[in-house]
Amino acid sequence: MYPSLKITFLGTGTSSGVPMIGCDCGVCQSADKKDKRLRASILVQSAKTTLVVDTGPDFRYQMLRQKIKHVDAVVFTHPHKDHLAGLDDIRAFNFFTKKPINVYADSLTEEAVRRDFYYAFTDTKYPGIPELNMNTISMEPFTVGDIPVVPILVWHLKMPVMGFRFGKFTYITDANKIEDTEKEKIRGSEAMVLNALRKQKHISHFTLGEAIDLVRELKVPEAYFTHMSHQMGLHAEIESELPDGIHLAWDGLILEFQ
Ligand SMILES: [Zn+2]
Ligand SMILES: [Zn+2]
Repeated sequence: MYPSLKITFLGTGTSSGVPMIGCDCGVCQSADKKDKRLRASILVQSAKTTLVVDTGPDFRYQMLRQKIKHVDAVVFTHPHKDHLAGLDDIRAFNFFTKKPINVYADSLTEEAVRRDFYYAFTDTKYPGIPELNMNTISMEPFTVGDIPVVPILVWHLKMPVMGFRFGKFTYITDANKIEDTEKEKIRGSEAMVLNALRKQKHISHFTLGEAIDLVRELKVPEAYFTHMSHQMGLHAEIESELPDGIHLAWDGLILEFQ
């Protein structure tokens, strides 16, 4: 039996976030709260377990904004800064639980975590730093508490990125190519998340059109796009152009799977 899951979108923006610093464009100046996008991350919760996928620069505020009181684990997709930079703030949870936080990362991301947060891995640690328990993952399925996780390998230009299937729900960010064998792992999902940066071509991200085509190819009935740039356009305008079952995600969106 797969546990019931609640998915919360903590951030749905690209690396610069929306609004982008210094930008006067209509999207960055929009008053619609769905046009305010923190860096991409989701919270995955069963009745017993809470994990966060990625801890970008907005991690602290995302925890405060959603009033998250407990996190059991961090699962990383890849080592880019917009997915990693906020990890230090996980220490707030260490203070309450007095236990290390489990971190799940592939070897490429693990190397970056150990380099960027070196002070959490030295023999002589100063007080107050994050306590991390590193778990190296491969393409083998693994379990976080009572939540089974299936890694899906996707490509971000030349960088391997971990997508994850959580039962009926698949989360993929920072990809522009997925091989056929990995696509098979997504098929049969009730809902999927895919990165869609903007309408124009990009070297390492799916465009809106490419993301729509992939959802249709995989015949997943519900899809939500994430990791959006201000260049995508206004949420309300783009949403109204999308085919049935396909949506732009927004910060604070919650999905539930029984
Ligand atoms: Zn990213
Ligand atoms: Zn802008």
